[in-house]
This record gives sequence, C-alpha cells and structure tokens, in this order.
Amino acid sequence: MKPQNITILGATGSIGASTLDVIARHPERFRPFALSANRRVEELAELCAQFRPVYAAVAEPSMVPRLRECMKTAGAQAKIVAGEQGLAELASLPEVDCVMAAIVGAAGLRATLAAARAGKKLLLANKEALVTAGPVFMSTVRKHGATLLPIDSEHNAVFQCLPPFSSGQLATKGIRRIVLTASGGPFRHRSRTELNRVTPDEACAHPNWRMGRKISVDSATMMNKGLEVIEAHWLFGASSDQIEVLIHPQSVVHSMVEYVDGSVIAQLGNPDMRTPIAQALAFPDRIDSGVSSLDLARIGTLGFERPDFERFPALRLAYGALAQGGAAPAILNAANEIAVAAFLERRLSFLSVTTVIEETLASTAAAPLGTLEDVFAVDAAARRRADQIVNRLYSNAA
Ligand code: NAD
Ligand code: MG
Repeated sequence: MKPQNITILGATGSIGASTLDVIARHPERFRPFALSANRRVEELAELCAQFRPVYAAVAEPSMVPRLRECMKTAGAQAKIVAGEQGLAELASLPEVDCVMAAIVGAAGLRATLAAARAGKKLLLANKEALVTAGPVFMSTVRKHGATLLPIDSEHNAVFQCLPPFSSGQLATKGIRRIVLTASGGPFRHRSRTELNRVTPDEACAHPNWRMGRKISVDSATMMNKGLEVIEAHWLFGASSDQIEVLIHPQSVVHSMVEYVDGSVIAQLGNPDMRTPIAQALAFPDRIDSGVSSLDLARIGTLGFERPDFERFPALRLAYGALAQGGAAPAILNAANEIAVAAFLERRLSFLSVTTVIEETLASTAAAPLGTLEDVFAVDAAARRRADQIVNRLYSNAA
C-alpha cells in the first residue's frame, strides 16, 4: 500500500497536533505532505524537522524570511509557500490525497474550499467554513466529487451512527432526529451575574477537552454547539427541528441518532480528538489512534439535561439564524469571531459576546448567498458592524 499524502491546514493548532500524532503511528499509511501555520513559524519549523513534509506554508507572507531562518535553525527542509493562495495550492496539488482542514475561523474558507474543488478526501474540523458558506460549500463538494468526512466529535459520532449515504435522506432512511451532546462548558452552573465577571483564562479552562482558545470560548458561551447545529444541518441535510441539543457533562456519549422505530444509536469514547481523526483518516478501515479504552465502570454515571437557553442565549441565536437562512449563519459566525477575539483581548465582557452577535444579526443586511463572493462580502460587512458594536460597548464600559 502506498502511503496517502496528507496536507494539514492548521498544523500548529490543537487539531493539527492530534492529527500528526495519529499519522505518526501509521507511517505505512500516511505521510505528512504539507504543513501550514498562521504566524507561529518557530513551531512550524520544529514540526517540519520532526515530520519532514515536502511543503511548509505560512498564511502571513511577511513571515516567510523568519520561517526560513527558523527552518535553518531547526535543521528542517521544505518548499515554502505563503498566503491564502499558497494554502489553497497545498490543498489542491495533484499529489495530495487527503486534506485536514483545521484552521480556526472563516479564515480557513478559501483553502478548505480549494480542497473540495480539487475533489479531495476532506477532513473537516474547520466548522466555521461550513457555517459561513453552507450552500456554496456543499454544492462544491458535490460538484467535484470530494469526500467530506466530519472531524468535529459530535458530527463524527453522528456519521458513525448513520447508515451509509444518508445525507439529505433522513426520512427515507427511517431517521427521526439527531441528538448532539454538549458538555455545557466550564460555566454550566454559573448564574448570569457570575457569568458577567468570568475571565478569558477561566473560559478557556474546559473541563473535558484541550482545545484552541477560540473554540474554548465558544464552548463556554455554547456558541460552539450553535455552530454545530448549523454544521449538522449542512452535513446531514437535517432540518433544525430534527436536531436536538442535550447537555451531557461527561463528554463520553459524543452524539446519537434516533430512528423511527425508537432505536437510539450512540457513539461513545474517551474525549480525545484522535478518535474521530483516526476514524476519518482510515475510513472505512479502523486504525489505532492511541486513545485508551473507555472505562465505564470508573466513570460510573452518565448524566443528561436540557440546555438552558436563557443563561446561554448563543444557542437560541444559532437556531434562529439557521431558521432565517440566507446570510444569517455567516453574519452570526463573523460577529462571533469578532466578539470572541475582543473578549480574549479583554475588551468585552463574557455576556456581551452574545449581545454583539444579536445586535449584528439585527443590523446587517442578510442578502441571499449565491456565490463565494457574496459570502465574503457579507462576512466582511458583519465584521465591520460587529467591530462598531464592540467599540461602542468598550467605550461605554470605560
Ligand atoms: P487552534 O487555535 O489550536 O489552531 C488553529 C490553527 O489554525 C493553527 O495552526 C493556526 O496557525 C491556524 N490559523 C489561525 N488563524 C489562521 C489564519 N488566519 N490563516 C491560516 N491559518 C490560521 O484551534 P483548534 O482547537 O485546533 O481548532 C481548529 C478548528 O477545529 C476550529 O475550527 C475548531 O472549531 C475545530 N475543532 C476543534 C476541536 C478541538 O478539540 N480542538 C474540536 C472540534 C472542532
Ligand atoms: Mg464539537
């Protein structure tokens, strides 16, 4: 068997690290072909020394000279490309068999779509790309025959619980609903008053998962689950009333599918992203991921409760954006990215994150999204609007 060439977009992140860990366990199956980073060129150079990819890419072109220096210091060699265009190229080169899309935010959209357009096997962690550009994204996947495999643990779980080829055919396959589980994040028991004072470090201390800072804040506001509801809509062709969210603090049941006969099929495992990554990399085979066996006797109890839409309005906003359709999910996502960045920079309180999103949604024109250019235009307009709202709230608070 010839090893598959893998491009990892976002190799220096949390998903990037887990992907490299799984790949390194199976050198006969997978070869890291190209690794990309945004600005962390020292880490990228070290990864290149360790994994010896053919290409290294940095999103920020001004960082190329520094990357060259770091590569020399680390004793690494690779062809260097830069910019969004460079990343898109590494996602679509003919030698590439599989692309892990693990850039955070809508910034990953062009490169992720390039992989779809090139008909690659596309492992999707970058949920923001799908939320922002749902219809364009899915039609590109279909038109170019790409194989889209979900990495998000919930969607990977649903994928494993569904019969093959069931996207958009939930009724004919006897599927009643999809149940996405949510840990509830670090603030599950906090009152609104307590939530107002939480700091970025508290928000990033997730009880079950070690993740990048943006998705950690999303988990704390529960916008992560909101984005995942929209992601599930596009991936599986489910309507919003077929997608339910259930709080499950242990993060052992990663999600479930209910059938019309009353059967509920769930996927369980330790909370470790190497499981969905290994499942998708090897699909339809199964390979060792390095994840230890699930010890249910030690865990003892699995709990479930309904989400609280009052304390965590982000989930309500996301369902609303999905119901509204058109540009609303793209506006929701863009406003969330701006608000989360402002919260991480301590310019915005935790509760104001959802205020910014709600106001941006109410005051940005939601023109229909026909083309990719429409998507970028609405994304940019929503970012400008959200920035204005953040600045107003910041100067009011000062
Ligand atoms: P992270 O912050 O740890 O890593 C992000 C990666 O993206 C880094 O390699 C960074 O260099 C790159 N990047 C950031 N901005 C960029 C830009 N403008 N252009 C190009 N590259 C850029 O994030 P993460 O936790 O690994 O998450 C990555 C994606 O996977 C997110 O969309 C997240 O929602 C999704 N996801 C993550 C997890 C998890 O457990 N970490 C689980 C499910 C889904
Ligand atoms: Mg998830």
